[in-house]
Amino acid sequence: EDILDILIIGAGPIGLACGLEAKKAGLSYLIVEKGCLVNSLYNYPLYMTFFSTADRLEIGGIPFASIHAKPNRAEALEYYRRVTDSEQLKVNLFEEVTAVTPEQEHYVISTSKAQYRAKHIVIAIGFYGIPNLLNIKGENLPKVRHYYFDPHYYYRQKVVVIGANNSAADAALETWRKGADVTMVVREPELGSIKYWTKPDLENRIKEGSIKAYFSSNLSEIREHEVDIQTPEGKVTIPNDFVLAMTGYRPDFSFLQKIGVNLTNDNKRYPQYDPDTMETNLPGVYLAGVICGGMDTHVWFIENSREHAVKIIRNIASLAGVENK
Ligand code: FAD
Repeated sequence: EDILDILIIGAGPIGLACGLEAKKAGLSYLIVEKGCLVNSLYNYPLYMTFFSTADRLEIGGIPFASIHAKPNRAEALEYYRRVTDSEQLKVNLFEEVTAVTPEQEHYVISTSKAQYRAKHIVIAIGFYGIPNLLNIKGENLPKVRHYYFDPHYYYRQKVVVIGANNSAADAALETWRKGADVTMVVREPELGSIKYWTKPDLENRIKEGSIKAYFSSNLSEIREHEVDIQTPEGKVTIPNDFVLAMTGYRPDFSFLQKIGVNLTNDNKRYPQYDPDTMETNLPGVYLAGVICGGMDTHVWFIENSREHAVKIIRNIASLAGVENK
C-alpha cells in the first residue's frame, strides 16, 4: 500500500525533527520542501549569528558541536545537512506543496512535481516566506529589499534600514561597518528586541551619530534617488540608494486557509490546534514549529517548538497502535 503514515510539509529544523521522530516510531513518512534544505536558514543574512546556543538548536537529540557559544548560519546549515544524511531522512527538495484534500481514509497531497497519499499531515512551513510590507509608494522599486544578505554590496551607498529588532540592528551595523552611510527609521520611540550583545553596539553608534536614526517615524515614500520620512517634527527628505525593510515576516495564512485550518478572526490570526497533540481542527492534520504563533512570530523558535515533533508523533503512533489492535 502506498499510503504514507505522515507527510511533512517543510524541511526546516522542525519539519526535520518530525521526520526524525517518525523514523524512530517506525512510521512511514516523507518530508516535502519547496526550496533547499532548511530553506529559511539558507536565506538568513550571510554572517548571521543565532541567539540560541548550539545545544538549543539540536533536533532528535543529535549533538550540534560548535566551538562558538552561538553558532552561525554556516554551522547550522552544516549541522542540519549532516543530521539529514546520517539519519538518511526522506526529504524531497525543490518541491512545493500546493494542495491538501481529504479523501475517505487519508489525504491527497498535490505538489509541484507529484501527488502523494498520507494518513496524517504535519504542516511545518515556518513564517519566513512572506515579508510584512510597508504599503507605501515606491516599495516595489528594485532597490527595496525585504531580505538582507551581504553587507559588501552596500559599500559607499546611502542605505535606509527600517525596523527596530534583530534583523534591522544586524543590517544597520553590518552595512555601516562595511562602509555604507546608514539611516535607521524606527516606528517606535525606541529600539526593540535585540540580542543583548548587539544592542549596546547599536545604541553607541546612534549616540555618536555614526548611524543616524529617526524614532517614532515612518517611511512615507520611496523614489529612485531619495526617500521621505514622516518624523514627529514633520516630513524629512534624504538622498537614498537602497532601502532594507527589516519589518518582519508572516506565515502563509492563505495556504492554511486553503487547506481548511481555522484562524482566529483578530489581527493575530492564530491557527486552531490542540496544544497537547498539535492537531488542528482537521482530523489528522497537525501544526509544528513557528507557524503555530500566527502573527506572533517571536513566540515560537527552535528550542521551544522542537517538542512539537515529539507530541505529534506520540499522538499519531498511539492512534496507529489503536488501529492495529
Ligand atoms: P522554517 O525553518 O521557516 O521552515 C519552514 C520550511 O517550510 C521552509 O524551509 C520553507 O521553505 C518550507 N515551506 C513553506 N511552505 C511550503 C510549501 N507550501 N511546500 C513545501 N515547503 C514549504 N530561532 C531560534 O530558535 N534561534 C535563533 O537564534 C533564531 N534566529 C533567527 C534569526 C533570523 C534572522 C530569523 C528570521 C529567525 C530566527 N529564528 C531563530 C527563528 C527561526 O527561523 C525558527 O526558529 C526556525 O527556522 C523555525 O523552524 P521551522 O521549521 O518551524 O520553520
